[in-house]
Amino acid sequence: MLIQTEGIVLKNRKYQESDGILVIFTRKLGKVSVMAKGSRRSKSKMLSAVQPLSYSDLILYKGKTMYSLNSGESLKSHYKIREDLYRLTLASYIVELVEAITIEGQSNNRLFSLLLEVLEGLEEADTKADSLYLWFLAQYVRLNGIQPATKGCSICESVSSPRWRLDFEEGGLVCDKCFSEVYHPWKTISSKGIKLLNYLANAPCEQVKGLDIHPKLHSELEEILNGYIQHQLDYRNFKSLKMLKEWRNTEIFLKKRGDNS
Ligand SMILES: [Zn+2]
Repeated sequence: MLIQTEGIVLKNRKYQESDGILVIFTRKLGKVSVMAKGSRRSKSKMLSAVQPLSYSDLILYKGKTMYSLNSGESLKSHYKIREDLYRLTLASYIVELVEAITIEGQSNNRLFSLLLEVLEGLEEADTKADSLYLWFLAQYVRLNGIQPATKGCSICESVSSPRWRLDFEEGGLVCDKCFSEVYHPWKTISSKGIKLLNYLANAPCEQVKGLDIHPKLHSELEEILNGYIQHQLDYRNFKSLKMLKEWRNTEIFLKKRGDNS
């Protein structure tokens, strides 16, 4: 049976001489593993369609154990992301997050559109990559039904507290009074952090492309969301996140950040 679908390549692993085993997030079938015979040959017509991050029009053949790629045409290769190492690291982490939360064979149209939108945004050189990435994290938790509750304390429902913590297990804010009673992983979140999280979770992509976020506030929310996501998914082994953290410590990066703020 042949199936035509759009897909975004999450992974391309070399198999034998010229074949590739791909993990593709497709619009119709959700995440699928696909054998792409001959796709790594330099003359292959499918070469561009099977590159990681590529948004492609695909025709898949459903075999007994896995899909195989019948033909593929790249609609957008997102090659500009690959030319910028920092953006590539962000995109790789985003792709890892999508892979971690999707289930084989289960479509998720909204997550597909979100991934496509953030990749398109990162492809444009004049967008704020860090803001887009943070926007993705906020949208990711919302679309996957794990958005932390921020209206008030998750335990006593109080809406005022001198300090708020985000309880990773409870999935929401905890006020100062209730805090001593919880022993879950948590992080302090500032009121600016709460505001920004709510804003990003509801803002369209266009609005955040040029958004300046103060580096300190960005770091705060990034750390909270990543810790929270890892706790919620019960998965901590994101390779690109480790790379991203190494990036953050390099001198060039710190300097660039300093110039921007
Ligand atoms: Zn409380």
